[in-house]
Parts: sequence; C-alpha cells; structure tokens
Amino acid sequence: MKIAMISEHASPLAALGGVDAGGQNVHVAALSEALARRGHQVTVYTRRDATELPARVSVGPGFDVVHVDAGPPRHVPKDELLPFMGELADGVARDWDHRPPDVVHGHFWMSGLAALDAARRAGSGYRVPVIQTFHALGTVKRRHQGAEDTSPQERRWLEPGVGRSADRIIATCSDEVFELKAMGINTGKISIAPCGVDLDVFGPDGPVDAKPRSHRILSVGRLVPRKGVDLVIRALPHLRAAGFADVELLIVGGGGDSGTLHSDPEVRRLLGLAAELGVQDQVVMEGQVPRGDMPGIFRSADAVVCAPWYEPFGIVPLEAMACGVPVVAAAVGGLRDTVVDHGTGLHVPPRDPEAIASALAMLLGNPSLRAELGNAGQRRARARYSWDRVAAESEKAYKLAVAGAAAGAAGPAAIPLEGAAL
Ligand code: UDP
Repeated sequence: MKIAMISEHASPLAALGGVDAGGQNVHVAALSEALARRGHQVTVYTRRDATELPARVSVGPGFDVVHVDAGPPRHVPKDELLPFMGELADGVARDWDHRPPDVVHGHFWMSGLAALDAARRAGSGYRVPVIQTFHALGTVKRRHQGAEDTSPQERRWLEPGVGRSADRIIATCSDEVFELKAMGINTGKISIAPCGVDLDVFGPDGPVDAKPRSHRILSVGRLVPRKGVDLVIRALPHLRAAGFADVELLIVGGGGDSGTLHSDPEVRRLLGLAAELGVQDQVVMEGQVPRGDMPGIFRSADAVVCAPWYEPFGIVPLEAMACGVPVVAAAVGGLRDTVVDHGTGLHVPPRDPEAIASALAMLLGNPSLRAELGNAGQRRARARYSWDRVAAESEKAYKLAVAGAAAGAAGPAAIPLEGAAL
C-alpha cells in the first residue's frame, strides 16, 4: 500500500523530551518503519519548523519524511498551529498530484483536519480513505487541566468532527474507546492498536548507566505539569520516613525548545519544590537524552515511576518493562492496559505522593519482587507490544477503510470550520 501519514507538530526526525516532542514522534517514526518493513511505501508529512530542513528526507527503504511549508519555518507551540492546517493540506495534496495514496492516516486532531482536507481534494473519482489516531483528546485534557488547557477553542467542535468524518479511528487503549463513544463517535469504526516499543533497542541486556546511590528511581518524559513529576518529588520525604534515604530521583526530559535546561520554567518549578521539601540533593535533572542512551538509563533504575494525572497511552512504561524494570504507574488511561498491577508493576491512585512512596518502598525493600515484576514486564512487552504487531493491527484498519471506501461508504463529510482560519 501507499500510505500517507500526517503528523503536523510531531516530526519522526525531531529530538525528544521538549514540551511538544515525545510519544507521538516515536509512534509515527516506529509505526512508519514497521509498515515499510512489511513492504508498504510510507510518506510522513510534517510541518517545516526550521528553514534548513530539506523538502524530502529518505529515512530508509520505503520511508520518507516530507517537510511541508505551513506557517513560519520555526518552532511554533502545537496549540498555535490550527491556522496553518489549510496550508499543510495544500502541501500534502500537491505532493499527491501524480499519485494519491491508498490511505491517509492523521495523527492528533489537527493532522486529522489536514488529512480530511487533502483527501477531499485528491484526484477526481477516487476517494482517499482517512484513518485517524488522536493520541490525546481535548475532552480529557479539559477535564484535567481546566483553565490551564491552552488548546484553541475550536478544538471543542473540530476534534469530534474529525472523529465523525474519518473512515476509521485507531484508538491506542480501551479507555480511549469509552471517551470516543462519549464524544458521539460510532464505536463500530474504531479499531484498537496500542503504541509499541522498539524491542531491538529496549531490552535487559546491554550497557548500564552507573548510579551514584543505593537506589535510583527514574522519571522520563516531556516536562509538563500533567506528567506529575512533582508528585514523585513529593514522594521522596515519605520514602525517607519509610527508611529509604539513599535514593536518587533521576528526571529525564525538559529544556529543549527554550534552550538551556535551567531556563525551562517547569525545571525551575520542580527544583524549587525539591528545595522546599529538603530533597534537592536527591533530585537530578538530566534534561533531554538522545534515544540511543535511554536503554542504559532504564536498566540502571530500580523502578520507573509514571504518575501522570491522565495518560492517553504512555510509551515510557513499555520501554521500562522491555528493559526488565518494574513500573509504578498511576492507574489512568493507557497505563491500566500496559502495566499489570502486581504483575509488571504496581498501580497507585492518581495524584497521590504517599501511595507512590509506599509502592516504591515495597519495591526498593524487595529485590526478588523487583526481579519478578521486571521479568514479567519483559515478557509482556515482547508478547504484545512489538511495533511489528502494532503495524499489523494498523494494516488491518487500513484494509477495512479501503474496503469501506471501495464499497461506496459515505465519504468523509465536510466539517463546519466556522471560526477556524483554514
Ligand atoms: N524520550 C527520550 N528522551 C527524553 C525524553 C523522552 O527519548 O529526553 C522518549 C521516551 O523514551 C519515550 C517518549 O520520549 O519514548 C515519550 O513518550 P510517552 O508516550 O511516554 O509520553 P508522551 O510524550 O506521549 O506524553
């Protein structure tokens, strides 16, 4: 198949760990690679966010990235990108001029708009079926972030519109299906394909980063408040009271877009909190770490903590599991599917530092429990979360969409875009 992916803000070629560069970038890159390995021809369209980027990059056999001119050629926060989606669709449709793809797969709601728009313009008499993966939903974000949510107002009606108009939706976890249903989307057109983990890179064998204290707990991800890294810092005094004082909390991610690590306001907030709680000597801010160095860091940890307020999927726990490290996970969203409570890690209620500390104390005090959960995590990651498996599931959804389009199912409806500068 000829597959077009649209990922407006999340380039598969970007460095990870900045505010807008994380799981979606990894997902689009790894899914595209795995589809290309299965013999498909994949082109990822992303917004040009630097002048020096070439128009087209060949990443590997069957996998290209096209940088489309849409808005200023510099980093623009993703919540300010809506006005450029029309231009993005123009660029995509122009590239399809000679031969439209068999399917177009939008990642994140704004790319869905561009995908629907480009699909409508593609060649006469042929309708390109649109598949959509949301990665995150505005309804969930608003519920948790309230006034702090910087998404454009238009997301409230455009995102459900993308859901209703797409031929098929790929949800990444069962929780997302309930959310989509609550948005009025027909669940009959939803497939579930999780995110995956690169099992050639993330595994138990290989270099192990040195740890400076008896125990290392690890937090990895974009440093945004909803990831709950402050909750892990708040757990440290409780952990100390439980007898675990020689513990380092290594925090990977942060800095990036704003330049240096210490100019990142979230880094400053977290370090301020650590100082206030008297645990600053236990907290190490590592900043953005290149992908290749991540496995050694995971392997050095006694436990990885993922304590988000909510989580559409969460690739970090899979990477930890694949490396044989137990995960303390807030029981929210995708983490409830991936991390098995008392199987591959321990679930804790969301926003509960004391519960995080108790779970960590249980793990740090019991090396054989750590080994048991770590081994089970490794097996689970291998059995269920290879990108090859995710690509096979995605391919099934593509085929259903193609068959539906060929059978003449109503094409993507036009979305009323009043208010959106498209
Ligand atoms: N990551 C990385 N270096 C960093 C920070 C993060 O390689 O400095 C990677 C991390 O290993 C994972 C991804 O970024 O592969 C984050 O994905 P996740 O789904 O956990 O979070 P999201 O960004 O989607 O909220």
